[in-house]
Amino acid sequence: MNKRIGGPGSFMIGEEEKRELLDVIEGGYLFRYGAEDDPLFQKKVLTFEEEFARYLDIEYCVAVNSGTSALLTCLAALGIGPGDEVIVPGYTFIASISSIVLSRAIPVLAEIDESLTLDPEDIRKKITDKTKAIMPVHMLGNPCDMDAVMEVAREHDLFVIEDCCQAAGASYHGKKVGTIGHIGAFSLNMFKTFTAGDGGAVVTNDFDLYERAFGFHDQGHKPRRSGVEIGRRSLIGLDFRMNELTGAVALAQVRKMDTILTLLRSKKKKLKELLHIPENVKFRTINDPEGECATLLTLIFPNKDSADVFAQEAGTETISHSGWHVYNNMEQILGKKVPTDYPCPYECEAYGRKREYTKNMLPRTDDILERSINISIGVVDKGLGSAFGININSSDEEIAEVALKINDLLRKIP
Ligand SMILES: *Cc1c(COP(=O)(O)O)cnc(C)c1O
Repeated sequence: MNKRIGGPGSFMIGEEEKRELLDVIEGGYLFRYGAEDDPLFQKKVLTFEEEFARYLDIEYCVAVNSGTSALLTCLAALGIGPGDEVIVPGYTFIASISSIVLSRAIPVLAEIDESLTLDPEDIRKKITDKTKAIMPVHMLGNPCDMDAVMEVAREHDLFVIEDCCQAAGASYHGKKVGTIGHIGAFSLNMFKTFTAGDGGAVVTNDFDLYERAFGFHDQGHKPRRSGVEIGRRSLIGLDFRMNELTGAVALAQVRKMDTILTLLRSKKKKLKELLHIPENVKFRTINDPEGECATLLTLIFPNKDSADVFAQEAGTETISHSGWHVYNNMEQILGKKVPTDYPCPYECEAYGRKREYTKNMLPRTDDILERSINISIGVVDKGLGSAFGININSSDEEIAEVALKINDLLRKIP
């Protein structure tokens, strides 16, 4: 079988990406800004922003250079900073948590449920008078239970930042993820649903948030600047701009989103239909079965022993071992290794409240993850615990072969 790793978009790179890229090279404009009236200036980044916004059915999009900078930009747009608490699940890629830390705010880790996304009930328990926002993460292509998340947010007047880095194209009750909360962040890293190698996007329906997000990502400039706009710059920003080469590939990929999702969903369906799942093994809860990306298939075993046996035989590991996707493995957080001249957000003494980050502080999350196994459908990534399974190009024969192996292993579990 194909030894290639990556997300579904990376398996689909072809002529379309090449054509968009050649346009840029031939035109000679690699920067996202250029002479508006020069036909050689291809405006790929701008076109990507417009097409991605249209695809999601949202007003505004700012293309950035990674999912991490997208999250940082969302936090900056909302004005989240020192002393503010942001509730985030303990099962997420570390960037969700680091973006909060680097905003000098305080990440408050919350439990997941059997959907492997934020448990709405636990959000309530984690709210304090300092809570400013909730960051639901649509993990493994599965939308969070957004009705419940939004209800808590409304009750407590909190912002909602959707981390959609693993779920581009997923929808929840008819709305694309990223369009439900106040602001959403996407990634185009190679392991995500669509890719440009690296890249990201911030989306919102709120013009003020858009203007602040744009400014933060581009040295304080107003959206669609021309020239340096002396006197018009509204805030202090950084440079997280996407360039035209990335924009070209991103544009070709956003046009493939529907094809990617259709393929993933049909391959997942085929694999599932061939499986004989014992009564005590479950699939994870899918909060919107019509809307998930279907990038992975997750099995939840009745106990740690049976999950370990399955993992070992399959040559994979339980999700609890998936590196920096689980708070227990984030030594930067647990070990408080931040420069000493940095107001240490982990101690939080400066903010009058001490928060500690310890191993096994989220017992429900630990229990679920040590019993769970990811099988790849479209995201082939050892780091995510999904080196075993199929990919978006797998043939029916390959799917049948993997199903046979899974069924065989399921018969062996204690
Ligand atoms: C990948 C990922 C990010 C960060 O995206 P990058 O493009 O790699 O910076 C953030 N959050 C989650 C949940 C991710 O999976």
